[in-house]
Amino acid sequence: MLFFTGSCIHQGLDVREMSRRINDVMSSGYKNAVRLVRTEMNFVSNQAAAESFDEAGILYYEFIAVLDNRTSKMCQSRDGEVYPMSEKSVGFNYPPLHPRCRSTVAPYVEGSGRLGSRIAKVNGKRLHVPESMTYSEFKEKYLTAGNKTALSNINIESTLKKMAAQLEKLTPEEAAAIRNYTQVLERSELIQR
Ligand SMILES: [Zn+2]
Repeated sequence: MLFFTGSCIHQGLDVREMSRRINDVMSSGYKNAVRLVRTEMNFVSNQAAAESFDEAGILYYEFIAVLDNRTSKMCQSRDGEVYPMSEKSVGFNYPPLHPRCRSTVAPYVEGSGRLGSRIAKVNGKRLHVPESMTYSEFKEKYLTAGNKTALSNINIESTLKKMAAQLEKLTPEEAAAIRNYTQVLERSELIQR
């Protein structure tokens, strides 16, 4: 399987095409094939990372989980953890930890700290957060119920302001129709809470 995936990468095929080919060969379900390819690709790229760390004399690596709401509990708990390269163990503290794992690793140099930013995804939108932010910090700040409400409140407020500005340019009939619509929106928001 490893050889098969590797040769596909060289041919420049995407995950779907690779999955279809593997599906043909193994006559397994399409979903199973996708799962295999994704896990296999994660394995290959993280093994390549390990080789380059070894070559560069890097002694530690940092486990990096994807910051969105699909991340497994397993990977959430490992996010931001630093391990010696000598103790790396695939499936335990080195990705992939499980099928469909999306976690990666970064070289860690003692005393350099974590600078820059990392990408997170909230409600389908990408945003940059500090490099030092761990999954649990991310969850607390962006994924907890209280903050979800805060985010949607901001959107509603700005939408209502824009609508109010436009009301002034409309005929009385159009304005009345939109005011009516706004009230319906506000009422449905109250119902959702
Ligand atoms: Zn994972």
